[in-house]
Amino acid sequence: MTDPEDIAERVRDGDLRLHELEDHADHDTAAEARRVLVERESGAELEAIGDYAFAAEQADPNIENMIGAAQVPMGIVGPVPVDGGAADGDHYLPLATTEGALLASVNRGLGVIRAAGGAEARVTKNGMTRAPVFRVDGVVEAAETVEWVGDNVEALREAAESTTSHGELLDVEPYVVGDSVFLRFAYDTKDAMGMNMATIATGTACELVESETPASLVALSGNLCSDKKPAAVNAVEGRGRSVTADVLVPGELVEERLHTTAEAIAEANTRKNLIGSAKAGSLGFNAHAANVVGAAFLATGQDEAQVVEAANTITTMDARRRDDGTSDLYASVSLASLEVGTVGGGTKLPTQAEALDILGLRGGGDPPGSNADALAEIFAVGALAGELSLLGALSSRHLASAHEDLGR
Ligand code: NAP
Repeated sequence: MTDPEDIAERVRDGDLRLHELEDHADHDTAAEARRVLVERESGAELEAIGDYAFAAEQADPNIENMIGAAQVPMGIVGPVPVDGGAADGDHYLPLATTEGALLASVNRGLGVIRAAGGAEARVTKNGMTRAPVFRVDGVVEAAETVEWVGDNVEALREAAESTTSHGELLDVEPYVVGDSVFLRFAYDTKDAMGMNMATIATGTACELVESETPASLVALSGNLCSDKKPAAVNAVEGRGRSVTADVLVPGELVEERLHTTAEAIAEANTRKNLIGSAKAGSLGFNAHAANVVGAAFLATGQDEAQVVEAANTITTMDARRRDDGTSDLYASVSLASLEVGTVGGGTKLPTQAEALDILGLRGGGDPPGSNADALAEIFAVGALAGELSLLGALSSRHLASAHEDLGR
């Protein structure tokens, strides 16, 4: 039975369930059958959704109940020289978005960075976390569990690392709240974003904790990880890659390219990104880092929901006085918890793999971890460009006119 119409009919009759269609037809036919069904039920025409450019089977690990693909326009910005701990040389950065004016703005910022000689970037911390929560009887058992963990990190490492040939356990940080014990496991997951890897490894380590302590596992994720929720723990301790990028822009360039001054940009940054964000109770202190992080995540197959914490950025802008009385602009972004990978997850899909090819970062790096480090550094420079451009526009009051010209 490979006729999509027949399959759709059988689903309508209750004979087949929506998620079982790949058991009865190839993946593309199953997707077509679902489109036929949805078209009939909703009256919508799904021509564009069904016009996708990869074999549906390739997306099998990434999606259930597939009907097609959501095609988001992709563009490039750059090139920009990045002097990183792992990234080196000139890079074009692919970005996928529906927000008009975003790439123009980031490209303008990258042009400024390029004219300034490029940006420097470094990954300063790396650790993908998973924090299971255990039940204990009370504070005495909690303390006993914490003590055992402190004395047995090597045994936990052996258990966790038995599940992976790449992951390395870096740390286990205990937290006690009454009769709940949280253990925040942190791993070097090399070129993988590492959420599956860390979850599997932690599951095995938990078996050891349960066998040797009074603690009983309640949930493998106890939200102190913290995945896909805005959380101070990620902003302070980091998650995935903590990465910083900076640039010193000569005052002449600030005037020529951004039509403003280092002092005006620094003031806008202080009042908006620092004071305004503080007053708002914001976790991030930046102008729009999420724009670049989100668009880069979509283009390169990262886990989109992690933009929640991955975009958590502090932007600093300072006017550095020169001997002649004029000022250069020092600009930096620090992304505390940028969770990125070049293997696994969505990075294997053909569109996203091609986008990683643009960066020369598809797949595992040599040494392992270097590709994901480089990706984090380039994303950070992209975010820096976005911050420079937007703060420049705000300082020179060009923001509204840029949106009018490009976005509408
Ligand atoms: P993954 O797709 O599960 O696989 C990554 C695997 O690739 C690693 O485990 C590793 O195998 C292998 N690998 C090969 N070369 C590598 C290299 N150079 N560096 C590192 N690993 C290499 O990817 P993941 O990053 O662990 O997980 C990402 C997926 O998790 C995404 O699809 C995301 O949506 C999903 N996710 C899961 C959870 C969860 O709680 N489970 C939460 C959020 C997101 P070995 O381990 O055998 O060495």
